[in-house]
Amino acid sequence: MSGYSFELITGPMSCGKTEELLRRIRRCIIAKKKVKVISPDVDTRAKGDYIESRNGLWLDAVKVKHSVQILSFVKDAEVVAIDELQFFDSNITKVITQLMNEGKKVIGTGLELDFKAEPFGSMPELMCIATKVDKLHAVCMKCGCEHATRTQRLIDGHPADKNSPLIMIGGDETYEARCIKCYELPDVKAKSKALGLKLLQFNKK
Ligand SMILES: [Zn+2]
Repeated sequence: MSGYSFELITGPMSCGKTEELLRRIRRCIIAKKKVKVISPDVDTRAKGDYIESRNGLWLDAVKVKHSVQILSFVKDAEVVAIDELQFFDSNITKVITQLMNEGKKVIGTGLELDFKAEPFGSMPELMCIATKVDKLHAVCMKCGCEHATRTQRLIDGHPADKNSPLIMIGGDETYEARCIKCYELPDVKAKSKALGLKLLQFNKK
């Protein structure tokens, strides 16, 4: 329960990150620590000023747009819990470093990889400055194994293309956890380019 630390909980969609964060927060509250919960303003999952895990547990949270604003909200806190770290701007690394230097205990969650399986936002830096990192696995929604480490984006039920925009307009966009074996990232552009090339070679003959 000591300060000067940053515990980072990471993993794909539906691996229980927020559940684990709420579990650790509850322990801090039992230990009578002053806890402040922060979540990014872009998180569309939570409806109001609270964070909610998929199993229905929730806690009051301050919604923050710019990461530097966190500093003014947590002045009295001994423990600072931050949900969805991947959505914060790049100053988040400096902000958390400062909180640690002030003797606070920071507990955070974040998606380590985006739908293209590429590092998400400041998560690589945050994993480096963390004093403890826990990588949780989810159940793969395709084969049912317990080693899902990827977040699969589906548009209208089909694996999303590599070139689909980061923010989707229209279409039924959903996400699910998948293992490396079941994770799919179609590249329609490259495929059609390769097909075009073949067609060109065919015409030459
Ligand atoms: Zn699988």
